[in-house]
Amino acid sequence: MTKKGISDYLAAIQKEMVDASDAIWEVAELRFEEVASMSILQKLLTNHGFTVKTNIGGIETAFLAEYGEGEPVMAFLGEYDALSHMSQAAGTTHPAPFTGNINGHGCGHNLLGVGATGAAIALRYELEKNKRTGTIRFYGCPGEEGGSGKAFMVKEGLFDDIDVAISWHPYTFNGIFSMNTLANYQIAFEFKGRAAHAAAAPHLGRSALDAVELMNVGVNYLREHLVQDARLHYAVTDTGGLSPNVVQEKAEVLYLMRAPQNDQLKDIYRRVVNIAKGAAMMTDTTVKTRFDKGCSGIVRNKTLEKLMYEQMKQVTLPHYTDAEKRLAEEYVSTYRPEEIESNKKQIFQMIDEPDHETWNTLLSESPPLLNKILPYSEKSQLLHGSSDVGDVSHIAPTVQCFSNCYAFGATLHSWQIVSHGKTTIAHKGMMYAAEVMARTGLALLTSPEVLKKAQQEHRLLRCRDQYESLIPDGIKPQPIK
Ligand SMILES: [Zn+2]
Repeated sequence: MTKKGISDYLAAIQKEMVDASDAIWEVAELRFEEVASMSILQKLLTNHGFTVKTNIGGIETAFLAEYGEGEPVMAFLGEYDALSHMSQAAGTTHPAPFTGNINGHGCGHNLLGVGATGAAIALRYELEKNKRTGTIRFYGCPGEEGGSGKAFMVKEGLFDDIDVAISWHPYTFNGIFSMNTLANYQIAFEFKGRAAHAAAAPHLGRSALDAVELMNVGVNYLREHLVQDARLHYAVTDTGGLSPNVVQEKAEVLYLMRAPQNDQLKDIYRRVVNIAKGAAMMTDTTVKTRFDKGCSGIVRNKTLEKLMYEQMKQVTLPHYTDAEKRLAEEYVSTYRPEEIESNKKQIFQMIDEPDHETWNTLLSESPPLLNKILPYSEKSQLLHGSSDVGDVSHIAPTVQCFSNCYAFGATLHSWQIVSHGKTTIAHKGMMYAAEVMARTGLALLTSPEVLKKAQQEHRLLRCRDQYESLIPDGIKPQPIK
């Protein structure tokens, strides 16, 4: 490649990136089964001189691609897993399943993985051109959706020697991911009772399904007595069969528990376990827990956030054609007013008070594509969701941005997100994010003092010293059963 700068390198690989993203969209694989998606990314990386190690940390669909040598070690994080039963045809503005796959990219991880890959490739050419020392890594991180793949990778020590981690997430605006997230545990409770004829001999039966129901009632009473930002959700993953005339011998409920701090989460878990034991006692059944996954909240790094924001402002924002604007308007017409309001509210939560008036005017015009950058704010804010980037951010200074890939008002994990996934709107957002990330990496390479400052900020928080994985020893990541 003979071109000169980050944007030229990205322009040169744009077609490869778009093709890779579209191909990952098509195969839409679920957590820890992303074999085809992984190989699409690996091919892109090896084509551009990266060496690839597969099956890292004993996780079959996790991989590491590397270029260069020595310090600093810069890690780009990419995801590529999809969501179950989210099939949706590309580019359509009404719900219509895609015949090729029952799953769908409802969180835009097809764009996420490729965007971060593109950033690593562009930075690698920059490194080569200037004969700089440094290691560029791309971490292929599987199973983000309900799997916390990165938390397992952190537990395996795969990030121990990195100096910084950079990533992004597709969304409905451009801005810095300047939020903390919730730590979480996902744990199944398996109840075992005794089957019997539900009419002729109910006194001989012990219902595991009764135990699940009583546990859920107990947990719903617990809710009121939790810290304000805690969240509890459950899914009954085994009802014990389809016959009402049989006392259910087996039943299972899967709990997702969330809280801002790990110690709060552990206490909630302890109380949920007590409720499960209570439900087992009440029904004369037994209960066993099966740990599924856990992840920590995100530790922000304001030095890196400010640096990335400065880069963001220097990258040319996408230009949208009239056809793209029309398509975006069609998507917006499918959103409910409260969805658009919720998206607006999120923006006001993320920006400082003095910027509210400008953004109020801007948003009252209801632009279908929000082609502006959110002014950066240092204020502390909590996203009531979780990300396994949290565990990486405990180990090394980490920064992420949002890039506009969807018509304003879209909510993640919806058919509209899947449908947007192969549009030029989404592709433009992916390319923009790739450039922001690559430039952030370059700024750190050329200004080692900023990297030092970010590392010092990270050290002062003592998050690495105090980090304790939420995953117990011996637990391996599992596909959705
Ligand atoms: Zn996501």
